[in-house]
Amino acid sequence: MIPVNEPLLDGNEKKYLLECIETGWISSEGPFIKQFEELFSASVGRKQGVAVTNGTAALDAAVEALGIGAGDEVIMPTFTIISCIGQIVRAGAKPVLVDSDPVTWNMDVTQIEAKITPRTKAIMVVHIYGLPVDMDPVLDIAARHGLKIIEDAAEMHGQTYKGKPCGSFGDISTFSFYPNKHITTGEGGMIVANDDQLIEDCRSLRNLCFQPKKRFVHERLGWNLRMTNLQAALGLAQIERLSEFVQRKRHMGKRYSQLLADLPGAQLPLVKTDYAENIYWVFGLLLNDELGINAEEAMRRLAGKGVGTRPFFCPMHMQPVLRRMGLFEGESYPVAERLYRQGFYIPSGLAVTEAQMESAAQAVWEVLG
Ligand SMILES: *Cc1c(COP(=O)(O)O)cnc(C)c1O
Repeated sequence: MIPVNEPLLDGNEKKYLLECIETGWISSEGPFIKQFEELFSASVGRKQGVAVTNGTAALDAAVEALGIGAGDEVIMPTFTIISCIGQIVRAGAKPVLVDSDPVTWNMDVTQIEAKITPRTKAIMVVHIYGLPVDMDPVLDIAARHGLKIIEDAAEMHGQTYKGKPCGSFGDISTFSFYPNKHITTGEGGMIVANDDQLIEDCRSLRNLCFQPKKRFVHERLGWNLRMTNLQAALGLAQIERLSEFVQRKRHMGKRYSQLLADLPGAQLPLVKTDYAENIYWVFGLLLNDELGINAEEAMRRLAGKGVGTRPFFCPMHMQPVLRRMGLFEGESYPVAERLYRQGFYIPSGLAVTEAQMESAAQAVWEVLG
């Protein structure tokens, strides 16, 4: 079986991990945390970073740090991972959805303004699968309406929008270091921002909102979201290779694009837009409706040929857990629904070899050609 993802850990990972063990620094108090925060935040043009346990936790803390609560509305894409919506719903705020662009698969930014009400507090942008959201219109709308921007850049390590790093656009921006991201710490995440108060709030929320003077007296409810020195050791080794990894992913995307160029029956990821070149977090395929099979069936047939795949996101308005709460009743977002029904991705991990890409593409031809 060609796995859908496998990370590359053949740099300084072992060396830095051994250093943790030899020095005894394994908890979140270790020295690699600060180094990783500084290196990573600087790499996306930010003043400060807060390392946390995962990308979902980074989003939870970001929503809480912005003070989003009951009565507030947050505009966000329906086509994303559940991580984006959790804290919005738990805080009693209302997620307001927009559909996707059929070509880039990112949120359709032309639909945002019509969704703004006096209760709108923030726009959450989520860069999807390797191409950034078209940020200029979003920045303009946010500025004109006085809205905050939360930027989920989990899939965007090393990507830029008009030459500026992804992760530099939100009032708060977040990353994930799950093993299928461009760089990994096993589990892990990062919050980056420029505002000192927001960063301080995120640091406090990460650490149960312990107070410096009265440690066990709490004025606010936080979480334990602390990253360990072991994870930061991996992160430091990985960030050393970020540009190499991005280059490798771009090569993989181009290779798959060549191998599948004349494939009838499926839409491939865009190689570039006028604001960014794809970094192919994953290599997605979107089946034409005329093909007569959906993503689920194509994935089943590819598994039979030894090719690992994963489905596209299930839109937020279709999530049973959210529907049962009475959210999104009667709402439909046809582009996102089609992405879910017809989309999936093929082996895209950094450890995938040229021969594996060729076999995977061959199998895709046999199933869809
Ligand atoms: C992976 C991912 C997350 C969640 O990150 P975890 O570290 O797995 O919690 C959030 N948003 C997007 C867009 C992601 O791709």
